[in-house]
Amino acid sequence: DQAAAKPKLTVLLCAPRGFCAGVDRAIQIVELALEKYGPPVYVRHEIVHNKFVVESLRAKGAVFVEELDEIPEGDRPVIFSAHGVPKSVPADASARNMFFLDATCPLVSKVHKEAQLHHKRGHDIVLIGHAGHPEVIGTMGQLPEGTVSLIETEEDARAFQPKDPDNLAWITQTTLSIDDTSAIVAILKERFPSILAPHKDDICYATTNRQEAVKEVAPRADAMIVVGAPNSSNSQRLREVAERAGCPHSALVQRASEIDWQDFEGISTLAVTAGASAPEVLVEEIIEAFANRFDVTVEVVRTAEETIAFNLPRELRATAAE
Ligand code: SF4
Repeated sequence: DQAAAKPKLTVLLCAPRGFCAGVDRAIQIVELALEKYGPPVYVRHEIVHNKFVVESLRAKGAVFVEELDEIPEGDRPVIFSAHGVPKSVPADASARNMFFLDATCPLVSKVHKEAQLHHKRGHDIVLIGHAGHPEVIGTMGQLPEGTVSLIETEEDARAFQPKDPDNLAWITQTTLSIDDTSAIVAILKERFPSILAPHKDDICYATTNRQEAVKEVAPRADAMIVVGAPNSSNSQRLREVAERAGCPHSALVQRASEIDWQDFEGISTLAVTAGASAPEVLVEEIIEAFANRFDVTVEVVRTAEETIAFNLPRELRATAAE
């Protein structure tokens, strides 16, 4: 019997993992727009950072562009990705008479509103985040250039020289490492004791829950697989959290074909999670690939329940109800 010859492997499957409410909503917006308006529907930037998701939507008639000027003139709708966009993007779309739908996650929009409020009250804003990530570009772009100072690391926090040290407020990207962020915030608070904090964490519930689940399983695992894309911030953070929590090897993979099997030789416990933009079919594909080589037992490790869901844009609610 072949199965009996396979080495035993316990898969600790993190819960929650994978899609968050913001990603789920963004994908639904593209699907419903295709249904209501017919293809092609344009999407500015990858709707969520996952190739598999992008390819499946492309197959249904979505056309992905990086900037609005790539879209031919006409009456086709354009959708802004879940990461959010600078103010200049909807303004530009309106100037071109484009019809747009905004798939920005409501939890990113919440950070945009915080930034605007701080600015209105005359506070200087520090954004903790990663340069170049579309969410950071979008959040900084809510206010005139030069208004928001970006801090990426503890060194940045130590070196930061504000115009007015007594009039600061900090906000963050939604998908950061909780531990890194608290270390940066501690430095800022020590240097600028009056700095204002967000009312409720900017790091979102999905990021928090996925990192907590990883921390729980990582010390028990010989290796970890995070299903997700290299440009997905929250997936990258999950991989780092696993290693810091004591897991000897943690790999970020998009598909089963990317698994470097040498790294998983001789393991008896594997932890598995997925970033907020990675669909569950890819998690299944990866567990199946392990089941071809190991005698797999899956143990779900649940550290939180998630029930949150976001409303769809008004224009698409009737289509969704059909
Ligand atoms: Fe929204 Fe958080 Fe998901 Fe980003 S990771 S889309 S902020 S729920």
